[in-house]
Amino acid sequence: MGVRKYSVGVDIGGTNIKFGIFDATGKLLLQRKIATDPERGSDAVLSAVTQQIHSMLAALSLRADDLTGIGLGVPGTADSVTGTVVYAPNLFWKNVPVATAIQSSFGVPLFIAQDTRAAAWAEYLVGSGQGCRGLAAVTLGTGIGCGMVMDGKIFHGALNTAGEFGHQIVELDGELCNCGRRGCLEAHAGGLAIVRQAKKRIPHLGTLLGKDSAAISVADVFQLAQQGNPPARQLTQDAVRYIGIGLVNLINLTSVERICISGGISNAPRELLMEPLIAFVRERAYQAISGRVQISKSTLGEDAPLIGAALLHRAFAHPAAHPAAARAE
Ligand SMILES: [Zn+2]
Repeated sequence: MGVRKYSVGVDIGGTNIKFGIFDATGKLLLQRKIATDPERGSDAVLSAVTQQIHSMLAALSLRADDLTGIGLGVPGTADSVTGTVVYAPNLFWKNVPVATAIQSSFGVPLFIAQDTRAAAWAEYLVGSGQGCRGLAAVTLGTGIGCGMVMDGKIFHGALNTAGEFGHQIVELDGELCNCGRRGCLEAHAGGLAIVRQAKKRIPHLGTLLGKDSAAISVADVFQLAQQGNPPARQLTQDAVRYIGIGLVNLINLTSVERICISGGISNAPRELLMEPLIAFVRERAYQAISGRVQISKSTLGEDAPLIGAALLHRAFAHPAAHPAAARAE
């Protein structure tokens, strides 16, 4: 019988899969990263995940029964009870029984959650959200996502789609979103949207930046804005206003106490993003709480989903939420 004090976190992204083995104190002992290559199909991706975990355990001279569990963060809707990825468009996965595939190879509990929720869980336990009751971890990246912890629990929602923060409408009949609807926050203020707008609205953008149109990033747009380029400034102000609307809606609906912000856009100069966002919330959120909600940059940053995945065993301690128990019913 092993010691059951280590845990494995896996953060499956559309481009890379990150792995980490942590000890009981949360110390990262070993981490690795492989390419996802989603086009090879879910079976091949999951078998690569399994292989990698075996190889990492071997590298640390650990056995599967030394593990408390294996936690997976996935970029899409996951059913934490059945251990299934319901829908992950970036991976082209629909109803993939991930727990069955991986658990059989290790014989330890497997926990699965949407990456945004894993990130929020990490922030709540060991990051910017420590000591608070209600937390939202908002990712402002290529897309816009959000995970929430309410009263000490990951909030899934009755229909399991809680936190679709990026798909709240901020402009009726606005820009077309990846989700198929129009006017979503992500379609107006996500990284892809900002770059797309920049190419439309900033004359001679490539020449100004001295780079190829395909290489232009959201950081470039914020840099131009900081240099005082008027259309870039207007564009980033517009994006911040949309994100501000999103945050006010989130705060007014959930009474969340703390919001931590991560993702590529969060690295924009403070005076162009965090300061105006906080001012927007102070001025426009429901008055009884507008001054109390705390908004800051995430302390865990892009590691949050990986760390949270490794800590998922603490989210699903109750046997009813245990994937294996649920299947045995
Ligand atoms: Zn959408």
